[in-house]
Amino acid sequence: LHTTLSLNPRPEKKALWLDCGIHAREWISPSLGFYGHNADITAVFDAVDVYVLPVLNPDGYRFTWTNNRMWRKNRSPSPDKRCVGVDLNRNFDANWCTEGASSAPCSEIYCGAFPESEPETQALANFLRSNKDQLRGYVSVHSYSQMLLFPYSCSREQAANHGELVRTKAGAKAGAKAGAKYGAGASTIYLAPGGSDDWAYNLGIKYSFTFELQDTGRYGFLLPPSHIAKAYNKHIQNVYN
Ligand SMILES: [Zn+2]
Repeated sequence: LHTTLSLNPRPEKKALWLDCGIHAREWISPSLGFYGHNADITAVFDAVDVYVLPVLNPDGYRFTWTNNRMWRKNRSPSPDKRCVGVDLNRNFDANWCTEGASSAPCSEIYCGAFPESEPETQALANFLRSNKDQLRGYVSVHSYSQMLLFPYSCSREQAANHGELVRTKAGAKAGAKAGAKYGAGASTIYLAPGGSDDWAYNLGIKYSFTFELQDTGRYGFLLPPSHIAKAYNKHIQNVYN
């Protein structure tokens, strides 16, 4: 997989963006981002460039290894000295900090001081802005619950190409799996403003998805490594198909 932000883009070639680990404790997500080679997906690279950011929230992710396995946010100092961190997936400029986010720095869904206040958010938004003409798809990988979501999460409005998003191949596969949920974020789970997927969609990337990987709650964020390896092959194929 291409794991770089400084690839020479080939403007004539379409590209797909995939980021992992925006939420620190969702360990299956960076595992997917780092897992290098799979014969079934290499053929895809003839057709599209794939940009992979394996850990979008590096200081938060590190903190889950050293201090608190269940940490979610980044490790940004906050105005309230008792608390640390911004929920990066509430920090994008898509109905920022409305219902479903919190302006309280101690909250798990703290939206930050202003949209794109965080360096991680800025870096991703800047990259997508400068490469939006090449990018046809945006994928953000989370866990857990086994769902595939598309815009909007930041409002109950229907996306302009809602019907098309419902009919995508990935959606059909997800829907075919017993118990797997697929649909617009706000109606499938809950309102979550300020997310990267909605922001990318509004930028013009019309195929924008959030994957919620395994499991459905037995282990939750503490999914054992053996389960992660098993889940990997199935999901990476869904992502690239
Ligand atoms: Zn998440």
